Parts: sequence; C-alpha cells; structure tokens
Amino acid sequence: MKFLKKNLDKIKDECGIFGIYNQKEAVSLTVLGLHSLQHRGQESAGIVSFKNNALYHHKGTGLVNDVFKGISIEGNIAIGHVRYSTTGDQRYENIQPLIANTSLGKISIAHNGNITNSKILKKELANHGQIFQSTTDTEFILGLLSLNNKDTIEQRFVEFSSKLEGAYSLLIIKNNKLIGVRDPYGFRPLVIGKYNKSFIITSETCALDIIGAKYVRDIEPGEIVSISEKGIESRKINSKNKQEKFCVFEFIYFMRPNSIFQNKSVSNIREKIGSELAKENGVEADVVIPVPDSGIHAAIGYSETSKIPFKQGIIRSHYMGRTFIEPKINIRNLNVNMKLSINKFYIKNKKIILIDDSIVRGTNMKKIVGMLKDGGAKEIHVRIASPPFISPCYYGIDTPTKQELIASKKSLKYLTKYFNCDTLKYISIEGLYKAFYNGQILKEEKHYCDSCFTEKYFFSKHTKNLRNKNH
Ligand code: SF4
Repeated sequence: MKFLKKNLDKIKDECGIFGIYNQKEAVSLTVLGLHSLQHRGQESAGIVSFKNNALYHHKGTGLVNDVFKGISIEGNIAIGHVRYSTTGDQRYENIQPLIANTSLGKISIAHNGNITNSKILKKELANHGQIFQSTTDTEFILGLLSLNNKDTIEQRFVEFSSKLEGAYSLLIIKNNKLIGVRDPYGFRPLVIGKYNKSFIITSETCALDIIGAKYVRDIEPGEIVSISEKGIESRKINSKNKQEKFCVFEFIYFMRPNSIFQNKSVSNIREKIGSELAKENGVEADVVIPVPDSGIHAAIGYSETSKIPFKQGIIRSHYMGRTFIEPKINIRNLNVNMKLSINKFYIKNKKIILIDDSIVRGTNMKKIVGMLKDGGAKEIHVRIASPPFISPCYYGIDTPTKQELIASKKSLKYLTKYFNCDTLKYISIEGLYKAFYNGQILKEEKHYCDSCFTEKYFFSKHTKNLRNKNH
C-alpha cells in the first residue's frame, strides 16, 4: 500500500478531527462531522465516546461511511478522527483516536499534525520504561502526559509542551471533559462551534455546517480549551514562540472551499490568489479552465481579473474510487483518464489558460495537457496558484521526497517542455501573500508557514535530521 500511495500526484493532509460535548446524539453527529472532513484523510476512521465513566470505541480502515455503517455506540461526549498516515504505518493500532491508561486514568486522544522531535522523545520515554503500542507520534504525547505529576491534563500540558516540537491540533476526552489543544505555531486548524447547548471542537467549519452548528471562534495557537460542566475554560501553553505559522497550503489546497478560518473564507482567498496570478502572469487567451476540483476557485479569480471567460472544460467524475487502490501501474494510469474527461466544445481550436493549485510530481499535469492537446487545443498556458513546491513538509502533510518533487530539481524551461505546454508560470511568494493581506506587499514577518516553497524550516535541529533522511 505504501508503494501505491507514493504514486499519487497530490499531496495529502493526514488528519481531520471532530469532537462534541454534552449531546445525546454525540456519536451520530461525530460520524456526520467526520464525513465532511473526509478530504483530510481517507485511509481510516475512528470514534471514541464517553458515557457513565466508560469509554467506547469503533474504528476501521476505509471511508467514514464504510467504517460506521450499521454501527451504534453509546456516549454523550465523542471524539472522531479521519486519517491519512504520515508518521507510523497503516496498522490497526495506529487508527485514532487512541485510548491509553495514563497516571491520570483512562484518556482518549485524536491528533492532527506531526511531531518533529519524536525520535528523541521516544528514546527519553523508553528510558522511563514506557512501552509503545502503536507506531504513531501521538503516543509520545500520551507518554509525556503520563510522566508528568501535575493534577490535571491542562496543567501537565502547560508544563511539558516545551518538550514537544512540531504540529499538533489535538482532541482529548478525560472523564466528563473535552479538551482541545493547538501547538504554539498553530500549524493546523482547530475551531470551536456550538450546537444547541453542546460545544464542538473540530478541524474545519465545514464540519459545523453539516450538522447546522454555529461557528464560535478559532482556537488560538498555543491555546488549551477545556469544555466541562463549568463551561469553556481557556489557558495558554508556555512557549517562547509568539508568532503564528499557520500552514499556508491549508488555504491553497487542503481546507474545503466552504470553510472559514482566521475570519477568511477559503474559497475567497483562492479567488484572490487567482486574481494575483492573473496580474502577475497574464497572457492572451480564449478561455480559463481549472483542473477540477482544486483549481476551480483560483480559476474564477483569474477569469474575473483577466476578463477571459471561465469554462469547465475538464470534468471530474465523482464516482471513481481513489487512484491508488488499483494495483497495476497501467490501470492506475488509465484511472487518471477515467477520473477526468474534457469537454471538447471549450477546448477545440482554443487558446487555453489551465489553472491548478500546485504541481507535485508533475505526472497529472503532463496527462492533463496531453488530454487538452488531443482535444484540439491551439495553445495551453499553465498557471499555478502556488509557488513551486520544492521541499517536503515535516508538519503533518504527507509529501514526497525532495527528489520526487519535480520543481525542486528542474527549471521552468525544462518543465514547460516536459508538460508540452506553451508557457508555464507560478504565482510568486509576494503575490501569494498579497491575496492574504488585501493586495499589500507584506513588510513584517508573515503569520504563515511556507517552508515547502522557501525551504526555510522551523525547529532547525530536528528538522535537519528529518531533511537528511528525506533528501
Ligand atoms: S511546509 Fe508547506 S505543507 Fe507543510 S505546514 Fe508548511 S506550508 Fe504547510
């Protein structure tokens, strides 16, 4: 499965989380919430619920609908997780939420992110006699929780969090309490919602919309939010870091277009990126065509600014399974064509601006340009709504190695020839941030992580070790 996964041409977010407090339909609503977060992880799903001092769970591999078909679990507090593995393989024990016996009693935890200093933590925890059941980095958080001797989870987090490096948005059930934690850089999203008298903590607001819940606010970087009979309490992790570094790629690609984060609409930001792309890299053409679904909103923005008509010249089939489940390379290649087909009416004899959010290995782009050429396109100008993806992510996104990232080693000239298009342009880093800061060029330090475009990483020591492994 790992080999097959490596042949995907889109990078993958690895997790989505949803938790609800004080609701008799907690588990059913969590299933719905996870369903709307399915884009954040498609390999496995799990739910842990709490009722009458007991934890109940169900988990399995596959999509949410398959894993929870015909399943009913009790509980008035629940946390759920969808997963696409980064750290750890796909064994059953790795499917989250995890349940563990800690020195504070039984707790359950769901994690979105990636701990970058996990090797060091593992050694340290093993020296204290800790035994690990899974191969996920989430267990190291449980290990640190167990070793500490403060009275509450929140107090322990405040104390040990300086030992944790990397990305973590977490949900925890401990007795009659739901706790949400976001790392001090805030790499991954986490929001609070309200459903009647119940509170929800989840990765994206699209999971609130699906059940008719209201968006209350984002959880701040470095914030611990506890929901109990006392209501909502908030405290801060001890951290030297005061600067948010939210993953800019969440806005470019991962989050659902209808989600809202940092008071910004994801689809609106994508349209603004498309608009900046048109200002930077305009070209005479007949139509603007997106690669569905990821290029749609950037293409709308490009079209509005360039005044060149937007046409859905490429159609995506929503009834195909994921490409990587097919075992043979020739079938996998066929699958890309089965997923995407062209509308020749918008293609033949047309000068086309083709918009996508990013290029990873470049195999999809090559095929799509080939399809448009076969359909009679006169010219194809590829425009990409992110800067060149030149380096892997270590903060919770499953990316190929540097060698596999086509833009890391090849020039624009080479790529233009390789894709067989007429021109190829990417948005610049400055143009990207203009979309976030109302068209202004940013002078001060930005509040986003863009390491995969700039190769400037945080946690330098441990990231350096990971980089040596991946280069
Ligand atoms: S390296 Fe790229 S994908 Fe990873 S958190 Fe930073 S911006 Fe996001």
